[in-house]
Amino acid sequence: MSTPRRLGPGKLVIATHNAGKLREIRALLAPYGLDCVSAGELGLPEPAETGTTFVENALIKAHAAAQAANLPALADDSGLSVAALGGAPGVYTADWAEADVFEGGPGRDWYMAMGKVEGKLAQLGPDAPRDGWFSCVLAIAWPDGAEAVYQGRIDGTLTWPPRGTLGFGYDPVFVPHGDTRTFAELDPAEKHAISHRADAFAKLVADQFPG
Ligand code: IMP
Repeated sequence: MSTPRRLGPGKLVIATHNAGKLREIRALLAPYGLDCVSAGELGLPEPAETGTTFVENALIKAHAAAQAANLPALADDSGLSVAALGGAPGVYTADWAEADVFEGGPGRDWYMAMGKVEGKLAQLGPDAPRDGWFSCVLAIAWPDGAEAVYQGRIDGTLTWPPRGTLGFGYDPVFVPHGDTRTFAELDPAEKHAISHRADAFAKLVADQFPG
C-alpha cells in the first residue's frame, strides 16, 4: 500500500456549515495542533450534494473547499439509516429536515425530521424493528486533487418521544447499543468516545497522525 498523503501542521479547512458538526470536529481535532478554520468563516459556498453515497458527498464537499480555499480541507458526510425503512433517510438525512417555515424562515426542523422517521416506522406497525445506525464519512482533499477517506458507524435503536437537549440533529431519538440514554442525553465527551464520527476519526488519526 502506498503511504497516505499526510496533513501538515498548518491550516485545515473544516468544510461544513453545520454548527453541530463543526463543534464536534474541532473537539476531536484539538489534540493534533492543526489550525482549523471553517468553510463558513472563510465565506466558501456550499456545493450541491449530488452524490448518492456518503463517500461521494464527503468528497464533493472536501474537494470544493480545498479548491476554493487553496488549502487542505476536511469534510464530513453523515446521516441516520433505519433498517426497517431500507436504510432511509441515509444520504437524505438533512433533506428530511428541510422546512419552508422554521423559526421565521426556511430552515432545518429536526423535531419535524425525527417525527417523519417515527411516522414511517409507525406505518409499519408496532412490531417494526427499530434498529438504526449513524454513518460518518470523513474525506480530506488537498488542493492538488489528492484525497483520503475514512468511514465510521454506530448502531443503536430509535426511541420515541425524543429525549435530551445535548448534541444536534437526530441525537434525541438515537439510543446507542450498550446504553439506555439517547445521544442527546450523553455528555459530549461520552458521545465523542463512541460515535460514528469518533469511529471515522480514529481511522483518520491512525492514518494521518501515526505514533
Ligand atoms: P449532511 O452530512 O450535511 O448531509 O447532513 C447529515 C445530517 O445527519 C446532519 O445534518 C444531522 O442531522 C444528521 N447527523 C449526522 N451526524 C449526526 C449526529 O452525530 N447526531 C445527530 N444527527 C446527526
